[in-house]
Amino acid sequence: MNVAVIGGGVSGSYLAQLLKNNHDVVVFERQERDKFFPICAWGTSINELRRLAKRIGLNFDDYVYHVGKRMYVQVKDEMLEVKLKGLCTFDKLRFILDMHRDINVNYGSKIISPPKNNYEVVVDATGFSRSILPKIMKDYFISTVEYRVKYKDPPFDDFYIRPINKLSGYLWFFPLGNGIYHVGAGDYYKNHEQYLNDFLRKYRGEILMKTGRPVRITPPHLSTPIINGNIAGLGECIGTVYPILGEGIIPSMQCAEILARNINNSSLEKYPEEVLKNFDIFYKLFIFIKKKFSGNFSLLRDFGLLISPIIYMKRREERFGLEVRARDWLKIVRSY
Ligand SMILES: Cc1cc2nc3c(=O)[nH]c(=O)nc-3n(C[C@H](O)[C@H](O)[C@H](O)COP(=O)(O)OP(=O)(O)OC[C@H]3O[C@@H](n4cnc5c(N)ncnc54)[C@H](O)[C@@H]3O)c2cc1C
Repeated sequence: MNVAVIGGGVSGSYLAQLLKNNHDVVVFERQERDKFFPICAWGTSINELRRLAKRIGLNFDDYVYHVGKRMYVQVKDEMLEVKLKGLCTFDKLRFILDMHRDINVNYGSKIISPPKNNYEVVVDATGFSRSILPKIMKDYFISTVEYRVKYKDPPFDDFYIRPINKLSGYLWFFPLGNGIYHVGAGDYYKNHEQYLNDFLRKYRGEILMKTGRPVRITPPHLSTPIINGNIAGLGECIGTVYPILGEGIIPSMQCAEILARNINNSSLEKYPEEVLKNFDIFYKLFIFIKKKFSGNFSLLRDFGLLISPIIYMKRREERFGLEVRARDWLKIVRSY
């Protein structure tokens, strides 16, 4: 098949890699090659990324910056310590550029309507922009700002996060090695800059870079349509971001696996159904956080909404890269 992938981020590039041996694939990326940069904290689970990278002939360990032992979670005045099981940071820029190496990528190509050539499948992998598929009726997103900071004397020796408000976001401090950190914050109610500025005033370092963009938290169930004729949405474009964590790398690559399987079977029909089944938990979590944001969450009435994601993550600790303890989650949920 002739496949056009719009967006050369992590999901579009991974899909192109999965398809390149059996199809004619061309990627259109709006950023220029020398300015290409994936805005993200670059945190993921080493276990799942090893599997995903191996499928396309890359050794994920070559890209890893820091493998965490613990994550400090500041819950009001108390500091929880979560044991880590593979949560790491990695060089996401080099990882994506290495995926670009042996595929056809047209940089500097901003595409805002389906390309006219006879492509049998057009993939919208434009992330938050969702440039090709019809707009989502009611879209939810978290605004973010992130700094790259160099510390001589870092305030924490490992991953650190601090929830904001009614769990409407959080501040993160992710080690990249050599005294460099991604320090950022995102909040549905846009109070993140205040939290971030307070943190950076308290823990002063040398600011190397400032970025930021919104992250979609509308789950796939509400990011419809997922396909429109021969156009298929992929990754954050169709909401494959774990709502409470803002974690989109693994889900977007897993979404590419699902799409590649369906394209190889020459049919897109089953793709939306498989996406919804695979990311069912995202919908439950979204309902939970929406209730929490709006102050409508009751621990007694909505216990099921809280417990199912905990069970889901508990069964997949390696995939998430951390130990999941119900009492930590309950403490966090009760405190905000
Ligand atoms: C500040 C921040 C921190 C984050 N931290 C983490 C984290 O630590 N771990 C994690 O798992 N997730 C994190 N995420 C989420 C994660 O980065 C995304 O969900 C994930 O990268 C989605 O991949 P994608 O390929 O679907 O979209 P994107 O990564 O957004 O890629 C889309 C690509 O499409 C291109 N594009 C856009 N419009 C057009 C167009 N019209 N024409 C051509 N090209 C276009 C863009 O330039 C981009 O390269 C973070 C997000 C943000 C904003």
